[in-house]
Order: sequence, then C-alpha cells, then structure tokens
Amino acid sequence: MIRIGIPRALLYYEYYPVWKRFFEELGAEVVVSPPTTQDMMVSGSSRVVADTCLPVKVFLGHVLYLVGKCDYIFIPAIRSVKSKVYNCSKFLGLPDMTNAVIPESPPILDMDVDVNKGKRKLYQAIYQLGRHFTWNPFKVRQASLAAWQAHLNYHELMSSHNLTPPQAIEIISGIPEAEANSSYLSSTRATIAIIGHPYLLYDEHINHRFISRLEQAHNRVLTPEMLSAEELQLATARLVGRAYWTYEEEVVGAGGHYLQNGVDGIIGIMAFGCGPDSLMMDMVRRQASRLKTTPFMSLTLEEHTAEAGIVTRLEAFLDMIYRKRRIQAESCR
Ligand code: SF4
Repeated sequence: MIRIGIPRALLYYEYYPVWKRFFEELGAEVVVSPPTTQDMMVSGSSRVVADTCLPVKVFLGHVLYLVGKCDYIFIPAIRSVKSKVYNCSKFLGLPDMTNAVIPESPPILDMDVDVNKGKRKLYQAIYQLGRHFTWNPFKVRQASLAAWQAHLNYHELMSSHNLTPPQAIEIISGIPEAEANSSYLSSTRATIAIIGHPYLLYDEHINHRFISRLEQAHNRVLTPEMLSAEELQLATARLVGRAYWTYEEEVVGAGGHYLQNGVDGIIGIMAFGCGPDSLMMDMVRRQASRLKTTPFMSLTLEEHTAEAGIVTRLEAFLDMIYRKRRIQAESCR
C-alpha cells in the first residue's frame, strides 16, 4: 500500500479530512506527523533564512520528521480557493521551497489549486493527482466527491458543535470525544474569542498551550471555526468590504463578528514576520478601539517566544477582564 505523508502543520487543520478521505478512497495509507516538538521546530528552522515565518519553519520540521516514513509527501500549492481572493505567497511556493531546502524529502505529490483558472483546470489537477494511484478517472471522481463531502461534514461539525479543528479531527478519526469544556462551562469566568490562523491557534508547542491555559482558568474559548461561513463572510464584508486574502475571514471576519457579539475579550494570535497578518490584525485592533466595548490583545509568536512571556500577558489580560466584569456586576446591583 502506498503511504502518503501529511505534515501536521499549515493547512493540515483546514483540509486534513478532505485529503485523508481522498487518498484512502484511492487505496493509499495516510501517515500524519505527530504534534510539533522542539526538535521539529529547530530542524525546520535550520533549513531556511531566519526571517521566514514560524509556521513555515514548523512545516519544514514536520516534513523532515516524515523522511523515511512514507513513500510520498503531499504538499499542494494552494493559490486561490475563491474567485479573486489569494493565498499568502508562502503557500504558493511551498512544494518548490520544500524540494529546494529538503532534498532528502520523499517525492512530493504536488497539486495546483487556483479557482481563478476555471473548473476545468481544477479537475485536471485532481485527475493528475489521482493518477498516482489509478488510471480509472471514474474512481478519481468518486474519491474527490467523497472527499468534498468529508470537507463539508468537517466544517459543519465544528460550527454546529462549537469544536476546534483538533477536536473535530479526533471525532472524525473515531477517537472518543474528550471531556472537553463541559467541566469549565459550569463555572465560566469569562468568554474569550481567539482569532488567527489554525496553524497558530492549535499548535500547542508554538503557542505554549494557549487555549488549554484559558480553559483551565475556567474561561469559555470561542474560535473562528465555531462560526458559520455566512457569519464570517458577513462580518468581513462589514469591516473591510471584499476580502483579498484567502484566510482573511478567520482573522478579520472572526474578529469583526466577536467584537459585535458580546464576548468579554478577544485575543489575536499572529506570526512574527507575517505581512498579511500584520495588516489583518491591525484592522481588528482599530475596530476594537473604535467600538471601545471589547478588550483586544494581540500576541506575536516566533521560535524564541518564551512561555513566561505568554503566561504573563495572558494573566494581565484576564485580570483586567475579570475586574471589568466585577465592576459591571456591582453597578447592576
Ligand atoms: S500567512 Fe503569514 S504566517 Fe501564514 S504562511 Fe503566510 S507569512 Fe507565514
């Protein structure tokens, strides 16, 4: 059986169920790298120049982990998944960059995704990918339809059950649902929305278990994936009109939505050296200071970000929110 490696980084959180289903329908075995470790981060960072953004360094560390453990590595070049909305340039060059800096990588299964070139080109790209497994176009079509359905189910599961991508992936993979937030919800101190890309929000190594820390302090955590596509689109349109970046909705849309929907605070997580994030996060920050209703804090992550620094800022932010809530409660008595 052909083994396909999938790095647990970057677009993994967005597309893992669709990729897994597609390859499994075609008879392949999917091998996923484990959660990020310090070794992965260091090894990935050693292959690129220092000012490459942290998520790309982490991605390369995952590719290095998969060397020798699979027959191919799947690294698509996702340029655009919506008309005239574009992805960050790092995603466009990801297969070529990986090839250049990790020559020992297993052969890369590459695929261009750009809806601006039309459906025909997209179907051709899917068939070309499927040909590594079968020459039967009917089988490839069936696999791609099943994969698309898996993608829709995944997003529906997250928005309808308030789940994060790792929680939804566990359920889809048949791992029993963790006790999750139920124990915290009975004694919620505050509701905090976290905005940013999934590869920053759910990689517990690079963000120093940010979401777990919030939950352990008895806060309810809301994330972009818990909103429906319509809610994200509406909020993005309200704040910036038309989105330009592919993943603008999970930053600007989620930020705009939560600013108007009564959370106690919003935390934006971004990567050092990320051009798109610095623009998008600033739009949310400006809107927060215009509205003056919801405290907003942004955190920038890089490989030298210290755990103590994250904890200190988080504690200070939460203290301020708890105090605000106390004062509001007292004034209502
Ligand atoms: S959007 Fe930013 S963090 Fe993400 S890959 Fe591009 S530069 Fe890196």
